[in-house]
Amino acid sequence: MIEKIKELEKLSGVLSPSAAQRANWNSRVLQYAETFRSGLDKDKAYYSSADKGKGIYDFDITEEPTELDSLIEAVEDNIDRVGINPASAGYLGYIPGGGLYPSALGDYMAAVSNKYAGIFFAAPGAVRLENMLLRWMCRLMGFPETSAGNLTSGGSIANLIAIVTAREAHGLKARDFENAVIYLSEQAHHSLQKAIRIAGMAEAHLRYIPMDGNLRLSAAELEKQIARDKEAGLIPFFINTSIGTTNTGAVDPVNSIADIAEKYGLWLHIDAAYGGFFKLVPELQDKFEGVERADSITLDPHKSLFLPFGTGAVLVKNKKALLEVHHYLADYMQDTRSENEELSPADISPELTKHFRGMRLWLPLKLFGLKAFRAALEEKVYLARYFHQEIQKVKGFEVGPEPELSVTMFRYVPENGSRSNEINKELLEELKNDGRIFLSSTSIKGVFWIRVAILIYRTHLSQVELLLQILQEKIMGLEKKK
Ligand SMILES: *Cc1c(COP(=O)(O)O)cnc(C)c1O
Repeated sequence: MIEKIKELEKLSGVLSPSAAQRANWNSRVLQYAETFRSGLDKDKAYYSSADKGKGIYDFDITEEPTELDSLIEAVEDNIDRVGINPASAGYLGYIPGGGLYPSALGDYMAAVSNKYAGIFFAAPGAVRLENMLLRWMCRLMGFPETSAGNLTSGGSIANLIAIVTAREAHGLKARDFENAVIYLSEQAHHSLQKAIRIAGMAEAHLRYIPMDGNLRLSAAELEKQIARDKEAGLIPFFINTSIGTTNTGAVDPVNSIADIAEKYGLWLHIDAAYGGFFKLVPELQDKFEGVERADSITLDPHKSLFLPFGTGAVLVKNKKALLEVHHYLADYMQDTRSENEELSPADISPELTKHFRGMRLWLPLKLFGLKAFRAALEEKVYLARYFHQEIQKVKGFEVGPEPELSVTMFRYVPENGSRSNEINKELLEELKNDGRIFLSSTSIKGVFWIRVAILIYRTHLSQVELLLQILQEKIMGLEKKK
């Protein structure tokens, strides 16, 4: 048996590479990172490709090891240069991310030490760091010290945690679900509907409240609907509002909605996955009037703090309900109960073992300081306003509402007014083929709009000027072709 063990030890020993081997791999990966990062200025925001990364299938799992060089090449050819490039300054589609470089280093550090950040007992320092970040977010949103929060993988899980916590806080049981009512606007993010189904509440009534002319949820219509539902004997319990809808960046009138939530005793959730960190910009404070009155808020550092994908956050005032729905004591965890000075992430989230994602957030915030983030966010707002102003000067283009944050939309209307939807689809396709700037589209009441979402920290005036130039060139080409 000893012999067998020794033999296995020799074979498995390669899993602990020597210092020389580590240095070799480190420098190769760093070289990859430098090539990628320094190439970003020339790189495209979108790569059209025929095989869409199929070459990666040549690198299926095998018994024998493969050299790092060929693996990195496979990544460059089949992953990096295929599809959307969300690190590019020209990526202005959907809700961009960017991916701050120090976050990659934070991820590296977290993965090297592999601290167990789910439970206070296991990694008190790591849990303190994450809770400190969440307390900072609570202060930013005007939530009291007694609130709790969790760093999630993204806004979807944050919304799910909010829904199940509200369900618990209202004491709703399965038999109540078909009478429960949830209020949201047509512009609410689809992750909310998804969360409602995962929460087992597919039978609940979803009330899509009409919007005002600027695509914000109408508080007056909301109140009328709640009153009607109460009268009908239903159980109104949850209002979802948005600070920055994904589609158009609209900010709901949170303060007036908070009045209604208070009056009728409903849970007020703010989905601020896109817009939340614009609270850092002094000029935008009026958009956030009443945020502190919410019961829960979803934030997405991988959107408006420019982090790489995989970091969201949820803040909740009712810590007790948050714990009641997520907290669990298993026998094999009995050693972990004592000495809990801080809330453990595992007690307030569906996750147990998790990535120590606080590191990727803390490192850039500390290395750059908050004022750099404030400036970057304010710059994006001005860039969106500038685009909105300039595109109107180009003959034939019309715009959506004045951007509230950094999303704006526009479309081209041909002189005779016909084929407008088609020509805008063609325009978007032309942009995609060109690849320097990537935009996405949306439909509002059957009308096709092109969106410009400015949220990459690397996006500056030159990209907006380039976009204006490309749009004029492409539309001239399309008009000539007709
Ligand atoms: C992106 C987004 C979500 C979903 O967040 P993920 O991080 O993609 O899971 C939810 N709500 C809004 C308003 C969003 O913009």
